[in-house]
Amino acid sequence: MIRQILKKATNNEVLNEKEALELLSITNLSTSYFELLSTAHAISKAHYQSKGYVFLQIGLNAAPCSGNCKFCSMRMDGFHDDMQMELSKEEVIEKVVSLPFHKLDSLFLMTTADYPFQRFLDIGKAVKCLLPSHIKLIANIKDFTLTQAQALKDAGFYGAYHIVRLREGIDTAIPVKKRIQTLDAIKSVGLELYYCIEPIGPEHTYEEIVKEMLRAREYDVKVMAVMARVNTSDCALKKYGEIDDFELAKIAAVTRLVCNPSISMNMHEPRSLGILAGVNQLYAECGSNPRDECNETEYHRGWNIDQACNLLLQGGYHLN
Ligand code: SF4
Repeated sequence: MIRQILKKATNNEVLNEKEALELLSITNLSTSYFELLSTAHAISKAHYQSKGYVFLQIGLNAAPCSGNCKFCSMRMDGFHDDMQMELSKEEVIEKVVSLPFHKLDSLFLMTTADYPFQRFLDIGKAVKCLLPSHIKLIANIKDFTLTQAQALKDAGFYGAYHIVRLREGIDTAIPVKKRIQTLDAIKSVGLELYYCIEPIGPEHTYEEIVKEMLRAREYDVKVMAVMARVNTSDCALKKYGEIDDFELAKIAAVTRLVCNPSISMNMHEPRSLGILAGVNQLYAECGSNPRDECNETEYHRGWNIDQACNLLLQGGYHLN
């Protein structure tokens, strides 16, 4: 049965919910597991023609956030005052001008949910002026309205990273409905939607994970990702532990086959195993980050641009 599903995927046929669940139920490191990874890898190599992508995210601020997501180091209920920081427009510009643009495809600007929209727009416009045309500017911010989505587009943003997080409204203070309104606003104004299934922990069922795969497919997501939860020292979900790399790679491979993203597939944290699962895109990160207590994640947990490039090159992908 697993081989039939993999054959269907190879023939570019759409997989259904039941088939996605069967693939996720494969025992890690079994023969079927390697067949799954090898199928996802072969499809990615052919479909993406060995083109790899590196995205960089700059976290602009760290502050107690009303989103209050239990998995985030910046949630209001668990914020450490010594993490507080905000980059000025000049500091952001300084970071951006020093970037090796030829190694990058997309630049994400991320803020907490309470960061003023106008300030973000102002910085976004300034950054856009500095970027060569091949670099896409992406917003990773709070929920926003249709008017604000249009303002992002007018300011030069190419897309937005926005998702319904796993257990949204339960492990976060933000209702699912609000997240969906933002997803709809993104699509309505023609911004590219960058999606991810996250933050995956051992407590999440395969049904919950497949639901987000199908949501991404409904929104015709072309840039897809999966991400594991990273437990910071006082993470409110720490009692559940974390998923291991083998499990994450399996979820990446199944997501790749079910969503069939036309541009790229990512797995985060970046791991060699992701390449075997069909990943052709990696994230480098700097500044603040929900999965780090250090507000300069480039010196702590975050990968840098060269690390991301090197892994893709090792995997036989070519960059810009
Ligand atoms: S994940 Fe985002 S919205 Fe949630 S608490 Fe952290 S910064 Fe706020």
